[in-house]
Amino acid sequence: MFGFIGKILIIDLTNKSWKEVSSNEDFYFKYLGGSFLAAKLFKDFFGDNKNIDPFDPKNPLVFATGVFAGENVCGATRVNVFSLSPETTGTYLSQAGGEFGPDLKRAGYDGLVILGKADSPVYVKITTVGRTCSCDFIDARHLWGKDRVEANEILKSELVIKYSMASIGPAGENLVACANIMFEVDHYAGRGGLGAVMGSKNLKAICVSGDKKPQFKNRNKIMEINKLGAKRQKGYEAGSFMKVLENQGTFGLLDLNQAAGNLPTHNFTQAFVDSSEFEDEICHANIDKKYVGKKKACKACYVACKKKYAKDSPYADFTALAEYESIAILGPNLGLADDFNHGLKACEICNKLGMDTISAGNLIAWMMDCFENEVLNENELDYSIKFGDGKKACELLEDIALRKGQPGNLLADGVFKAIEKLGEKTKPYIRASRGVGLPAHMPRKKPGIGFGYLTGPNPGDHMKLEHDWIASDPGSLKSLGLTISSEPDALDKNKVEIARTTQIYYSMVDTLSLCMFIFGPGNIYTFDEMVEMVNSATGFNYSFEELMKIGEQSLQLHRELYYELGGKDEEFLPYLNEEIPEGPSKSSKINESDFEVAREHYNSLW
Ligand code: SF4
Repeated sequence: MFGFIGKILIIDLTNKSWKEVSSNEDFYFKYLGGSFLAAKLFKDFFGDNKNIDPFDPKNPLVFATGVFAGENVCGATRVNVFSLSPETTGTYLSQAGGEFGPDLKRAGYDGLVILGKADSPVYVKITTVGRTCSCDFIDARHLWGKDRVEANEILKSELVIKYSMASIGPAGENLVACANIMFEVDHYAGRGGLGAVMGSKNLKAICVSGDKKPQFKNRNKIMEINKLGAKRQKGYEAGSFMKVLENQGTFGLLDLNQAAGNLPTHNFTQAFVDSSEFEDEICHANIDKKYVGKKKACKACYVACKKKYAKDSPYADFTALAEYESIAILGPNLGLADDFNHGLKACEICNKLGMDTISAGNLIAWMMDCFENEVLNENELDYSIKFGDGKKACELLEDIALRKGQPGNLLADGVFKAIEKLGEKTKPYIRASRGVGLPAHMPRKKPGIGFGYLTGPNPGDHMKLEHDWIASDPGSLKSLGLTISSEPDALDKNKVEIARTTQIYYSMVDTLSLCMFIFGPGNIYTFDEMVEMVNSATGFNYSFEELMKIGEQSLQLHRELYYELGGKDEEFLPYLNEEIPEGPSKSSKINESDFEVAREHYNSLW
């Protein structure tokens, strides 16, 4: 078989046993890989277990790789992780870069299913040499409680040869609702709390190593197109989206989003920071000088949006240059626009202790806003926190991850339980969809994205559909087969149809386990080139329409699992009806009636 190994590894932690399951070419022609394969495996191993808790040992935790994993193709290293989510009410799909996915394939597997629960902390070591695979279950009590960088260092020293690692931090061990899974030390399957699912299984880390080479029908063609992509990337103009990613990482998007009025500040009440000092701090020339260090890309990536901090910056020993979403939510959104020091420290605390920066930051912003508006008072919690208090925000993040003190414990259980304890009066200040904190794109400025946050199987996810700009870009719409258009700031029937088509597109990209920066519409490749790459890898003869159909079927399966297992759509959030008060996106809002019409129309399309 080309492009796939044809085997899935099933690990049962309860019995410390493992087995392989094989599938034929017809199966892979239908499910392809990545997110679709992950959902299919989850469904098969979840069986009839309705109404179980995400922390029930019967909840499968699934990892799945893509067609190009294991080869030096730019943007093709992503791994999909899927399970019942402790943060929201249904299933969740999360993704990360790094070498875990490619190494899982080199070990001889397209996917990995973790079942059961170890009776005490373990890590699992998967090693394939030649035709022989072994899985070892190793006592991890000495790693339990260690932050992830420290745990990884210890693991590296124990493992002798090089393994790729998926691991959790103390937040995952402590079943914090927004705990994430880290790959190596600087890639994160951040969303949906899947690190807590791993923690509930007493699984500190999965280490994988293999020496298999993936087989492709026409490797030369894939590499030829890959080379063309690298050439195109070189030719983009300075300041273009792709060049900002290459030169400043997603950290550089602070400046673009500030200029567009799309930067959440003070718990999403404002969309830009009214300060020339802030603008000076985040302009690209200054970022280059003060923050951006060496590239630390996913393997073979010619864009390399992942970076280290500059060698002489005070953050040089941090794991990686903060991502846009992280510093926006833990910086300006906490009122820390002029206290980057604490904002960046807050990102690093989350990374080391194993929490999603977006959800954790939103929880703190919510609490700050409640105190600012005197919805909460100090006596209720024997605690208070206000916007701009970076020191307290950092302390509270540690308390959440380590479940220390009353506010830390309260927020560790996530949005639903926190509202239950603090009362409905706090609900209007929550910036989350179905328990998952909102990413750093203002839904009032980008109503299509806002609609996507509140609707469908991956709550609060900005990477499951294209952003609103596409709705008025004739070239992109035509290439997606669309003859309709809409205004970027509108939420009408055309906008939801465009949103749905791009959801299907990104579902296809996730099925292929590709990076959306490289394979997003209009970024590096044409759709024809992408299709040619897939066919050169698999030997199948898909058309673009057939790949889109697979994307749609995958999305259907994700919808089916999410809604059947307890997921819901979010109610309209009343604050979206209020106009953004100032700045470049002044007056933007979402009318509740437009939203409900859009929702009805969207639901009629499925
Ligand atoms: S663009 Fe960034 S996230 Fe995407 S593959 Fe390259 S380094 Fe990884």
